[in-house]
Amino acid sequence: MNNKYKILVIEDEANIRGLLTAMLESGGFHVIQCDTCDSAILLYESYHPDLALLDLGLPDADGMRFLRYVRRNALTPVVVVSARTDESDKIAALDLGANDYVTKPFSSGELLARIRAALRSSRHCNEEGRLPGGKFILEDFLIEYDSRRTYYLGQEIKLTQTEYNIVAFLSEHCGKLMTYATLIKEIWGDRTDENSIKKLQVNMANIRRKLGISPSEPKIIYNELGVGYRMDHSI
Ligand code: CA
Repeated sequence: MNNKYKILVIEDEANIRGLLTAMLESGGFHVIQCDTCDSAILLYESYHPDLALLDLGLPDADGMRFLRYVRRNALTPVVVVSARTDESDKIAALDLGANDYVTKPFSSGELLARIRAALRSSRHCNEEGRLPGGKFILEDFLIEYDSRRTYYLGQEIKLTQTEYNIVAFLSEHCGKLMTYATLIKEIWGDRTDENSIKKLQVNMANIRRKLGISPSEPKIIYNELGVGYRMDHSI
């Protein structure tokens, strides 16, 4: 019981809250639940959850307020669960620091996979980060940060500077969906427009081709159409 991950579930609809709690408990998590933004902040401060599942439409405030509160001084993973399907809402939540976004309705398997990925990404950031001489390993993909070399299935992959910068940045946020705007700003310092998105997509296509990964069977790097890219374990 004590070594279970604590998940704070913030959801005002009792039936959805009950469903989420049941899914999470069956997945081996300890659940703390609440139904308003204010109580979420209080519970967050007293229980220090390992992750928060956040509904955006709360009765007392927009769930974004909770996200802003947490991101002022903590990297606690926050996964947004919302009925909003608008991509601009997803992008706004991700750019404010949400780790991921699950749209209702969702399957138990999908939700648990997203939560495990968000927990993994926060462990990776906390424990490894960008250490000198550090290595990053994801299944058959290896990065040596010091020498800026990458390997896939034991073979060195020759990436351009830009391609390397993209995979290194994604690896530092492994498990987290990074929006086009975040990637473009990090890699080129540019604003996001049609040209910069095109440039990013061309680089991504080249990276996948060099790794021998077909877009129809994605591995290592996943694309969420219209939103961004995520480096992650195979689901
Ligand atoms: Ca709601």
